[in-house]
Amino acid sequence: MQALVNTAPYVLEYRTWADPEMGPDDLLICVKACAICGSDIKGYSGKTGRRQPPIIMGHEAAGEVVALGANVQGFAVGDRVAFDSTVYCRCCVNCLAGHANLCLDRQVVGVSEGTYRRHGAMAEYIAVPWWIAIHLPDTLSYTRAALIETVSIGVHAANRTPLTLNDRVAIIGAGAVGLVTLQAARLKGAGKIVISDLSEGRLALARALGADVTIRADQADATTEALRAALGAQGADAAFEAVGVQATVDAAIAVTRVGGSVTLIGNVAPWVEVALQRIVTGELNLYGVCASNREYSACAELVAAGRINVDPLISATARLEDGQQVFDALYQNPGDNIRTVFVMD
Ligand SMILES: [Zn+2]
Ligand SMILES: [Zn+2]
Repeated sequence: MQALVNTAPYVLEYRTWADPEMGPDDLLICVKACAICGSDIKGYSGKTGRRQPPIIMGHEAAGEVVALGANVQGFAVGDRVAFDSTVYCRCCVNCLAGHANLCLDRQVVGVSEGTYRRHGAMAEYIAVPWWIAIHLPDTLSYTRAALIETVSIGVHAANRTPLTLNDRVAIIGAGAVGLVTLQAARLKGAGKIVISDLSEGRLALARALGADVTIRADQADATTEALRAALGAQGADAAFEAVGVQATVDAAIAVTRVGGSVTLIGNVAPWVEVALQRIVTGELNLYGVCASNREYSACAELVAAGRINVDPLISATARLEDGQQVFDALYQNPGDNIRTVFVMD
Protein backbone atom coordinates (compact mmCIF):
# COMPACT_ATOMS: atom_id res chain seq x y z
CA MET A 1 0.00 0.00 0.00
CA GLN A 2 0.95 3.66 -0.11
CA ALA A 3 1.53 5.39 3.23
CA LEU A 4 2.89 8.55 4.74
CA VAL A 5 5.74 7.28 6.90
CA ASN A 6 7.61 9.29 9.51
CA THR A 7 11.07 7.83 8.75
CA ALA A 8 13.21 10.30 10.72
CA PRO A 9 12.66 13.48 12.73
CA TYR A 10 10.91 16.04 10.49
CA VAL A 11 10.85 13.59 7.58
CA LEU A 12 7.65 12.18 6.10
CA GLU A 13 7.96 9.91 3.09
CA TYR A 14 4.97 9.06 0.95
CA ARG A 15 6.01 5.61 -0.13
CA THR A 16 5.04 1.99 -0.51
CA TRP A 17 4.76 0.11 2.75
CA ALA A 18 3.73 -3.37 3.80
CA ASP A 19 -0.03 -3.85 4.06
CA PRO A 20 -1.26 -4.04 7.68
CA GLU A 21 -1.10 -7.47 9.24
CA MET A 22 -4.61 -8.58 9.99
CA GLY A 23 -5.52 -10.71 13.00
CA PRO A 24 -8.73 -12.73 13.44
CA ASP A 25 -10.36 -9.89 15.44
CA ASP A 26 -9.48 -7.18 12.94
CA LEU A 27 -11.30 -5.11 10.40
CA LEU A 28 -9.23 -4.07 7.42
CA ILE A 29 -10.26 -0.51 6.67
CA CYS A 30 -9.60 1.49 3.52
CA VAL A 31 -8.91 4.92 4.99
CA LYS A 32 -11.00 7.71 3.48
CA ALA A 33 -10.10 10.61 5.76
CA CYS A 34 -7.55 11.20 8.49
CA ALA A 35 -7.13 14.39 10.51
CA ILE A 36 -3.78 15.69 11.68
CA CYS A 37 -3.72 16.03 15.45
CA GLY A 38 -1.55 18.55 17.28
CA SER A 39 0.24 15.56 18.80
CA ASP A 40 1.18 14.37 15.30
CA ILE A 41 2.64 17.77 14.45
CA LYS A 42 4.68 17.82 17.66
CA GLY A 43 5.41 14.12 17.27
CA TYR A 44 6.95 14.14 13.80
CA SER A 45 9.75 16.36 15.10
CA GLY A 46 10.83 13.44 17.28
CA LYS A 47 10.76 15.62 20.38
CA THR A 48 7.86 13.98 22.20
CA GLY A 49 9.19 10.44 22.06
CA ARG A 50 5.71 9.20 21.15
CA ARG A 51 6.39 8.83 17.42
CA GLN A 52 9.53 6.76 17.03
CA PRO A 53 10.41 6.29 13.35
CA PRO A 54 9.53 4.48 11.29
CA ILE A 55 5.89 5.12 12.17
CA ILE A 56 2.71 5.78 10.22
CA MET A 57 0.87 8.39 12.29
CA GLY A 58 -2.84 9.20 12.33
CA HIS A 59 -5.40 8.33 15.00
CA GLU A 60 -8.36 10.49 13.91
CA ALA A 61 -9.79 8.69 10.92
CA ALA A 62 -12.67 7.07 9.13
CA GLY A 63 -12.99 4.68 6.23
CA GLU A 64 -14.64 1.70 4.59
CA VAL A 65 -14.35 -1.91 5.72
CA VAL A 66 -12.71 -4.01 2.99
CA ALA A 67 -11.95 -7.29 4.80
CA LEU A 68 -12.91 -9.07 8.00
CA GLY A 69 -11.04 -11.37 10.38
CA ALA A 70 -12.71 -14.66 11.31
CA ASN A 71 -13.86 -13.46 14.75
CA VAL A 72 -15.34 -10.13 13.70
CA GLN A 73 -18.89 -9.44 14.87
CA GLY A 74 -21.33 -6.81 13.68
CA PHE A 75 -19.47 -5.52 10.62
CA ALA A 76 -19.56 -6.34 6.94
CA VAL A 77 -17.42 -5.46 3.95
CA GLY A 78 -18.53 -2.07 2.64
CA ASP A 79 -19.50 -0.66 6.06
CA ARG A 80 -18.58 2.97 6.70
CA VAL A 81 -16.76 3.20 10.03
CA ALA A 82 -14.70 5.31 12.39
CA PHE A 83 -12.62 3.85 15.18
CA ASP A 84 -11.35 4.74 18.62
CA SER A 85 -7.81 6.04 18.88
CA THR A 86 -7.35 3.79 21.91
CA VAL A 87 -7.05 0.08 21.28
CA TYR A 88 -8.30 -1.51 24.48
CA CYS A 89 -8.34 -5.17 25.40
CA ARG A 90 -11.83 -5.63 26.92
CA CYS A 91 -10.55 -8.05 29.60
CA CYS A 92 -8.14 -6.27 31.96
CA VAL A 93 -9.33 -5.01 35.33
CA ASN A 94 -9.83 -1.44 34.07
CA CYS A 95 -11.73 -2.52 30.95
CA LEU A 96 -13.94 -4.76 33.06
CA ALA A 97 -14.55 -1.88 35.47
CA GLY A 98 -15.84 0.23 32.58
CA HIS A 99 -12.72 2.31 31.93
CA ALA A 100 -11.75 1.14 28.44
CA ASN A 101 -9.81 4.38 27.94
CA LEU A 102 -7.60 3.41 30.87
CA CYS A 103 -7.00 -0.17 29.67
CA LEU A 104 -3.84 -1.60 31.21
CA ASP A 105 -2.80 -3.01 27.82
CA ARG A 106 -3.92 -0.07 25.75
CA GLN A 107 -2.18 1.04 22.63
CA VAL A 108 -2.83 4.21 20.72
CA VAL A 109 -3.29 4.05 16.97
CA GLY A 110 -0.46 5.79 15.13
CA VAL A 111 1.77 6.01 18.19
CA SER A 112 4.99 4.21 19.05
CA GLU A 113 5.91 4.33 22.66
CA GLY A 114 7.84 2.06 24.96
CA THR A 115 7.38 -1.51 23.88
CA TYR A 116 4.78 -1.04 21.18
CA ARG A 117 4.55 0.44 17.75
CA ARG A 118 1.08 0.69 16.33
CA HIS A 119 0.82 2.13 12.84
CA GLY A 120 -1.92 4.66 12.19
CA ALA A 121 -4.25 5.79 9.48
CA MET A 122 -2.14 8.08 7.30
CA ALA A 123 -2.08 5.23 4.81
CA GLU A 124 -4.27 3.43 2.33
CA TYR A 125 -5.24 0.76 4.86
CA ILE A 126 -5.32 0.18 8.59
CA ALA A 127 -6.31 -2.88 10.61
CA VAL A 128 -8.05 -2.42 13.97
CA PRO A 129 -9.99 -4.75 16.28
CA TRP A 130 -13.68 -4.67 15.47
CA TRP A 131 -14.74 -3.65 18.98
CA ILE A 132 -13.07 -0.23 18.72
CA ALA A 133 -14.93 0.59 15.49
CA ILE A 134 -18.36 2.18 15.13
CA HIS A 135 -20.79 2.41 12.25
CA LEU A 136 -21.18 5.87 10.73
CA PRO A 137 -24.59 7.40 10.14
CA ASP A 138 -25.27 7.52 6.37
CA THR A 139 -25.40 11.29 6.37
CA LEU A 140 -22.01 11.75 8.03
CA SER A 141 -19.20 12.37 5.56
CA TYR A 142 -15.83 10.70 6.06
CA THR A 143 -14.17 14.10 6.42
CA ARG A 144 -16.47 15.09 9.26
CA ALA A 145 -16.17 11.61 10.74
CA ALA A 146 -12.43 12.14 11.04
CA LEU A 147 -13.29 14.76 13.67
CA ILE A 148 -15.19 12.28 15.88
CA GLU A 149 -12.03 11.52 17.83
CA THR A 150 -11.63 15.20 18.70
CA VAL A 151 -15.32 15.53 19.52
CA SER A 152 -15.09 12.53 21.81
CA ILE A 153 -12.58 14.30 24.06
CA GLY A 154 -14.97 17.20 24.64
CA VAL A 155 -17.93 14.88 25.10
CA HIS A 156 -15.99 12.77 27.60
CA ALA A 157 -14.94 15.93 29.46
CA ALA A 158 -18.55 17.11 29.65
CA ASN A 159 -19.72 13.65 30.67
CA ARG A 160 -17.13 13.57 33.47
CA THR A 161 -18.17 16.97 34.81
CA PRO A 162 -21.25 17.55 36.95
CA LEU A 163 -23.27 20.25 35.18
CA THR A 164 -26.65 21.54 36.19
CA LEU A 165 -28.92 23.45 33.83
CA ASN A 166 -27.74 27.05 33.42
CA ASP A 167 -24.39 26.55 35.18
CA ARG A 168 -21.73 29.13 34.48
CA VAL A 169 -18.82 27.57 32.66
CA ALA A 170 -15.26 28.74 32.02
CA ILE A 171 -13.24 27.12 29.26
CA ILE A 172 -9.53 27.84 29.17
CA GLY A 173 -8.21 27.33 25.65
CA ALA A 174 -10.07 27.54 22.34
CA GLY A 175 -8.11 24.98 20.35
CA ALA A 176 -9.78 21.91 18.89
CA VAL A 177 -10.50 20.39 22.29
CA GLY A 178 -11.71 23.65 23.83
CA LEU A 179 -14.08 24.23 20.91
CA VAL A 180 -15.66 20.79 21.13
CA THR A 181 -15.82 20.99 24.93
CA LEU A 182 -17.67 24.29 24.53
CA GLN A 183 -20.31 22.61 22.39
CA ALA A 184 -20.56 19.54 24.62
CA ALA A 185 -20.95 21.69 27.75
CA ARG A 186 -23.68 23.66 25.99
CA LEU A 187 -25.51 20.44 25.13
CA LYS A 188 -25.24 19.36 28.75
CA GLY A 189 -27.07 22.47 29.88
CA ALA A 190 -24.42 25.13 30.49
CA GLY A 191 -25.71 28.68 30.79
CA LYS A 192 -23.15 31.41 30.31
CA ILE A 193 -19.95 30.11 28.75
CA VAL A 194 -16.80 32.21 28.98
CA ILE A 195 -13.75 31.09 27.02
CA SER A 196 -10.20 32.41 26.86
CA ASP A 197 -7.40 31.92 24.36
CA LEU A 198 -4.31 33.66 23.03
CA SER A 199 -5.67 33.83 19.50
CA GLU A 200 -8.36 36.21 18.29
CA GLY A 201 -9.05 33.87 15.36
CA ARG A 202 -9.81 30.93 17.62
CA LEU A 203 -11.97 33.15 19.84
CA ALA A 204 -13.96 34.16 16.76
CA LEU A 205 -14.59 30.45 16.13
CA ALA A 206 -15.65 30.09 19.76
CA ARG A 207 -18.18 32.90 19.34
CA ALA A 208 -19.50 31.30 16.17
CA LEU A 209 -19.90 28.04 18.08
CA GLY A 210 -21.86 29.63 20.89
CA ALA A 211 -19.50 31.12 23.46
CA ASP A 212 -21.13 34.02 25.31
CA VAL A 213 -17.96 35.87 26.24
CA THR A 214 -14.47 35.50 24.76
CA ILE A 215 -11.33 36.77 26.44
CA ARG A 216 -7.89 37.34 24.93
CA ALA A 217 -5.44 35.68 27.29
CA ASP A 218 -2.46 37.90 26.63
CA GLN A 219 -1.51 38.36 30.25
CA ALA A 220 -2.11 35.76 32.92
CA ASP A 221 -3.27 38.05 35.75
CA ALA A 222 -5.47 40.17 33.53
CA THR A 223 -6.98 37.04 31.98
CA THR A 224 -8.02 35.65 35.35
CA GLU A 225 -9.53 39.01 36.29
CA ALA A 226 -11.41 39.24 32.99
CA LEU A 227 -12.70 35.68 33.41
CA ARG A 228 -13.85 36.51 36.94
CA ALA A 229 -15.54 39.69 35.79
CA ALA A 230 -17.40 37.86 33.03
CA LEU A 231 -18.43 34.97 35.27
CA GLY A 232 -19.79 37.16 38.05
CA ALA A 233 -19.02 37.34 41.74
CA GLN A 234 -19.35 33.65 42.53
CA GLY A 235 -17.19 32.36 39.71
CA ALA A 236 -17.60 29.35 37.47
CA ASP A 237 -19.63 26.35 38.52
CA ALA A 238 -17.34 24.36 36.27
CA ALA A 239 -14.05 25.20 34.59
CA PHE A 240 -12.56 23.15 31.76
CA GLU A 241 -8.81 23.44 31.29
CA ALA A 242 -7.94 22.60 27.69
CA VAL A 243 -4.32 23.72 27.47
CA GLY A 244 -2.29 22.14 30.24
CA VAL A 245 0.38 24.61 31.33
CA GLN A 246 0.94 26.35 34.67
CA ALA A 247 -0.77 29.66 33.88
CA THR A 248 -3.91 28.07 32.44
CA VAL A 249 -4.29 25.53 35.25
CA ASP A 250 -3.88 28.42 37.70
CA ALA A 251 -6.62 30.35 35.91
CA ALA A 252 -9.03 27.41 35.90
CA ILE A 253 -8.61 26.88 39.63
CA ALA A 254 -8.77 30.61 40.40
CA VAL A 255 -12.07 31.27 38.62
CA THR A 256 -13.99 28.26 39.97
CA ARG A 257 -16.48 28.87 42.74
CA VAL A 258 -16.35 27.18 46.12
CA GLY A 259 -17.58 23.62 45.66
CA GLY A 260 -17.27 23.86 41.89
CA SER A 261 -15.40 21.56 39.57
CA VAL A 262 -12.23 21.87 37.54
CA THR A 263 -11.91 19.45 34.66
CA LEU A 264 -8.35 19.00 33.46
CA ILE A 265 -8.02 17.96 29.83
CA GLY A 266 -4.83 19.61 28.59
CA ASN A 267 -1.48 18.17 29.58
CA VAL A 268 1.20 19.98 27.62
CA ALA A 269 3.28 20.24 30.78
CA PRO A 270 3.67 16.90 32.57
CA TRP A 271 3.94 18.68 35.88
CA VAL A 272 2.35 21.87 37.25
CA GLU A 273 1.95 23.29 40.74
CA VAL A 274 -1.59 23.76 42.02
CA ALA A 275 -3.15 26.19 44.49
CA LEU A 276 -3.54 23.55 47.17
CA GLN A 277 -5.24 25.73 49.77
CA ARG A 278 -7.76 27.02 47.27
CA ILE A 279 -8.65 23.45 46.28
CA VAL A 280 -8.79 22.18 49.87
CA THR A 281 -10.53 25.09 51.58
CA GLY A 282 -12.81 25.71 48.60
CA GLU A 283 -13.67 22.03 48.30
CA LEU A 284 -13.06 22.08 44.56
CA ASN A 285 -13.57 18.86 42.64
CA LEU A 286 -10.84 17.95 40.19
CA TYR A 287 -11.54 15.67 37.24
CA GLY A 288 -8.92 14.22 34.93
CA VAL A 289 -9.92 13.45 31.38
CA CYS A 290 -8.07 10.81 29.35
CA ALA A 291 -9.21 10.35 25.75
CA SER A 292 -12.79 9.05 25.74
CA ASN A 293 -14.60 6.03 27.05
CA ARG A 294 -16.73 4.30 24.38
CA GLU A 295 -18.50 7.54 23.50
CA TYR A 296 -17.83 7.38 19.75
CA SER A 297 -21.30 6.30 18.67
CA ALA A 298 -22.89 9.14 20.60
CA CYS A 299 -20.39 11.56 19.08
CA ALA A 300 -21.07 10.32 15.55
CA GLU A 301 -24.79 10.87 16.08
CA LEU A 302 -24.26 14.31 17.59
CA VAL A 303 -22.11 15.37 14.65
CA ALA A 304 -24.44 13.84 12.05
CA ALA A 305 -27.39 15.63 13.63
CA GLY A 306 -25.53 18.94 13.64
CA ARG A 307 -25.77 19.20 17.41
CA ILE A 308 -22.00 19.38 17.47
CA ASN A 309 -20.67 21.36 14.53
CA VAL A 310 -17.25 20.28 13.29
CA ASP A 311 -17.24 22.23 10.04
CA PRO A 312 -15.54 25.32 11.52
CA LEU A 313 -12.86 23.04 12.97
CA ILE A 314 -11.87 21.69 9.55
CA SER A 315 -9.43 24.41 8.60
CA ALA A 316 -8.17 22.69 5.46
CA THR A 317 -8.12 19.44 3.57
CA ALA A 318 -5.03 18.02 1.90
CA ARG A 319 -3.70 15.02 0.04
CA LEU A 320 -1.56 12.44 1.77
CA GLU A 321 1.05 12.76 -1.01
CA ASP A 322 1.67 16.32 0.16
CA GLY A 323 2.17 15.27 3.78
CA GLN A 324 5.72 16.57 4.13
CA GLN A 325 4.84 20.10 3.06
CA VAL A 326 1.60 20.08 5.05
CA PHE A 327 3.37 19.04 8.25
CA ASP A 328 6.26 21.45 7.70
CA ALA A 329 3.85 24.35 7.27
CA LEU A 330 1.81 23.42 10.35
CA TYR A 331 4.95 22.92 12.42
CA GLN A 332 6.46 26.24 11.42
CA ASN A 333 3.33 28.36 11.60
CA PRO A 334 0.15 26.70 12.83
CA GLY A 335 -1.66 30.03 12.95
CA ASP A 336 -5.32 29.45 13.68
CA ASN A 337 -5.37 26.04 12.02
CA ILE A 338 -7.59 23.73 14.06
CA ARG A 339 -7.55 20.56 11.97
CA THR A 340 -6.22 19.73 8.54
CA VAL A 341 -7.79 16.55 7.20
CA PHE A 342 -6.13 14.27 4.68
CA VAL A 343 -8.80 13.16 2.28
CA MET A 344 -8.22 10.03 0.19
CA ASP A 345 -10.19 9.31 -2.92
ZN1 LIG B 1 -5.36 13.51 18.61
ZN1 LIG C 1 -8.02 -3.56 29.01
